[in-house]
Amino acid sequence: MKYIDPHIHMVSRTTDDYQRMAEAGCVAVTEPAFWAGYDRSSAQGFYDYFRVLTSTEPQRAAQYGIDHYTWICINPKEAEDLSLARDVIEIIPEFLEKDTTLGVGEIGLNKNTRNELTILEEQIGIADKHDQLILVHTPHLEDKRKGTRITLDAIKRNGNIDPGRVLIDHVEEHTIRMVLEEGFWAGMTLYPNSKCTVQRAVDLIETYGTKRLWVNSAGDWGHSDPMTVPKTAMELKRRGHGPEVFDKISFRNPLTFLGQCKKFKIDDA
Ligand SMILES: [Zn+2]
Repeated sequence: MKYIDPHIHMVSRTTDDYQRMAEAGCVAVTEPAFWAGYDRSSAQGFYDYFRVLTSTEPQRAAQYGIDHYTWICINPKEAEDLSLARDVIEIIPEFLEKDTTLGVGEIGLNKNTRNELTILEEQIGIADKHDQLILVHTPHLEDKRKGTRITLDAIKRNGNIDPGRVLIDHVEEHTIRMVLEEGFWAGMTLYPNSKCTVQRAVDLIETYGTKRLWVNSAGDWGHSDPMTVPKTAMELKRRGHGPEVFDKISFRNPLTFLGQCKKFKIDDA
C-alpha cells in the first residue's frame, strides 16, 4: 500500500511521525502554509516560515524517503490584519517559484469577516496571475457552510479560475455536495475528535463515490493524528471495500489533482 497525505503540517511534527508515515506507505506529503498556533509579529516571520516550508522540510522528509511539497499564502486567521497581510502578499511570488511549491494555499476564511474576504480575493488574484493551483481552508463548525458558500462565490467572481484546479478542504456532510456539484475538488480532513472522523469519511465515500475526493490528516500542533490516512484504508477494508478504493482516494486522486502542477512528480507512480 502506498499513499499521499496531501494536507499535513509537518513543521509541527517530529521525525518519529515521518518514520511511522513512511512505514505505513506514505510516499509524498503536501504542506500548506497555515496559522502556526501563534500570531507572527511581522512579514519577516512569514519569510522564515516559507523558507522552512521550501527548504528545511523537503530535506527532513527525504531522510525517510518521503517527497515533500508545499503551498504558500497568508492564512485566513492572520489575514485579519490587512497591513501585515499585504506585506506578506508581497513576498509570496518569490516562494511560488520554488521547485517544490505547488500553488497558493491554504487560503480561505476563518470567521467570515470582511478583512478575511478582502485578502482571500487578493490571493485568488495572485493564483490567477501566476497560473497556480489553489488549496482552500474552510471554517470550522457553525461558520463552515456559510464560509464555504462565500469562498466558492469569490472564486467564481474572479472569472478566470477553473474549479478543477481548486481543492476545497475540510468538507463535511453539509458542504461536500455543493463543492462537488460545482466542479471543485473536495478534501476530507480526518481529526480524532473534531472535523471529520475516519468513520464519517468512509460514510461520505460510500455516499458520494471517489470522484474528485481525497482524505488528509492535517496533522498539526494541536490534537491530531498523522496516521488517520492509513487508518482510512483499515476502515474501508473492514467494511468490505477492495484495495482499489483507498488507492483511488489516497493515491490516484492526489496524483491527478496535484499533477496539474508540472513540478509534482512521484517516482513510483
Ligand atoms: Zn491545514
